Amino acid sequence: MIRFTYPKSFLSLLLIGFSIVSAPLVFALFTNVMAFEKLAALSEQAVHSAVRVTQASRSLLPVITSLERSARQYAVAGDSTFLEAYRTNRAGFLALTQHLDAMALSEEQRAEVASIERDAETINNLVTQLGPVPELSRRLPGAFALLAERGQKLVRLGDQVIDQGIEQLRTQAVQSRNSVFWLMIGLIPTAILLIGSFTYLISRPITQVLASIRGLGEGQFAKPIRIEGPGDMVRLGAQLDWLRERLVTLEAQKTRFLQHISHELKTPLTALREGSDLLSSGVVGNLNAEQREIARILQENSIELRKLIEGLLNYSAVHAQASYLDAKIVQLRDVVRRVVNDRKLPIVAKGIRIELNCEHVTAYCDEEKIRVVLDNLLSNAVKYSPERGLISIKLYKDRGDAVFEVLDEGPGIPPTERDKIFEAFYRGTDVPVSAIKGSGLGLSIVKEYVQLHKGEIEVLGGPGAHFRIRFPRKKAGETEEAAA
Ligand code: ADP
Repeated sequence: MIRFTYPKSFLSLLLIGFSIVSAPLVFALFTNVMAFEKLAALSEQAVHSAVRVTQASRSLLPVITSLERSARQYAVAGDSTFLEAYRTNRAGFLALTQHLDAMALSEEQRAEVASIERDAETINNLVTQLGPVPELSRRLPGAFALLAERGQKLVRLGDQVIDQGIEQLRTQAVQSRNSVFWLMIGLIPTAILLIGSFTYLISRPITQVLASIRGLGEGQFAKPIRIEGPGDMVRLGAQLDWLRERLVTLEAQKTRFLQHISHELKTPLTALREGSDLLSSGVVGNLNAEQREIARILQENSIELRKLIEGLLNYSAVHAQASYLDAKIVQLRDVVRRVVNDRKLPIVAKGIRIELNCEHVTAYCDEEKIRVVLDNLLSNAVKYSPERGLISIKLYKDRGDAVFEVLDEGPGIPPTERDKIFEAFYRGTDVPVSAIKGSGLGLSIVKEYVQLHKGEIEVLGGPGAHFRIRFPRKKAGETEEAAA
């Protein structure tokens, strides 16, 4: 593959791009101008010389007539003034034929001029050798008729040359037009190709910057950022990568901080809980009704607090491994069965019916993370389902994706909360049963794991909650059959 070396700045890339793209068009324009210039010069030259020849040929006709007149007068009258006039006319005639000889004539014209000169020479021999005798008068008309006829032919030949010149010009114009046409046919795709290539080269670094920023926003810090492009864009990429490293450090600090805090909180909390347990159980003495109520509130809240802290610990642990996939080929139907089995107790306790609609689907994925995803969705469904409600789980293939759907008959998720429920620590406002308070972390973990599999999660409408998860069944570059 040809590697393109980017220039130092984006501006140079633009300038180079525009210059290269416009080069074929400038070339076409230049070629056109040259072709028309040549055509114009040629036509001017051809017309000019043809017209001059025709003019000279035409002026030969009256000279022949004068020559004939003076020769015949001399033949009849024998007067030396007529002979003198004949000689003057002949000199004029010779000057004209010599002038014609010097011009750019066609082969035929040249031969005709030579014949005219020969015939004129023959006539001259007759005039000088015979002198003014009846014999000369008899022979002159025939000889001059021949000469005049040749003169006429020369004029016709001149016209023909002009016609041919015009025809040649026409052919030349057609040829030029054709060559311009073919040139354009060749150049337009070249220009389009060049425009396409440069658009790609110019937009690629920008697309990469956008993708990197989106990746950073979505918390994908694992892959180093590298922008391919002109020097300034490469430097921008390096700055973005520096930002990524900073974010990785901050993220690690945040996780460590969370772990420390939750760990540190656990010890005093355990003491608090044990104290409230002791108080409630009456081991340290009997309590009156009000004191018992306070002890109960203390006990309940310490349990709630413990759950929250465990959630925090769990979340930071999940976060720590969120960038890592331990993938292999997994039978997804088996994962669903295992998850349902693990949740048997609460399901039975609430008399919930489970409807499984699972196709045989395999996928290249992290089995444990997919298990956590399904488990969180199912435990929410169980939690929010009414007694003896129905929970439906579907698993099927859709093009290259594996798709899970989990539906329940609980209160559902109000449209206004559908985006928020995936945020960490977010808990719905409209949860009717106060006893089922959670930490608000389950769905944020689900989303994180699904995204790690390059998949997506959606909340669909319905009377109850309806979640749909899809993710590609194969790793990038693998064929459909390999994952099947
Ligand atoms: P929680 O521990 O509060 O369940 P989650 O992250 O699992 O935390 O869920 C966030 C919120 O999404 C919940 O507080 C609840 O409002 C809503 N939610 C999740 N699953 C369901 C469901 N199956 N039915 C109704 N609401 C749900």
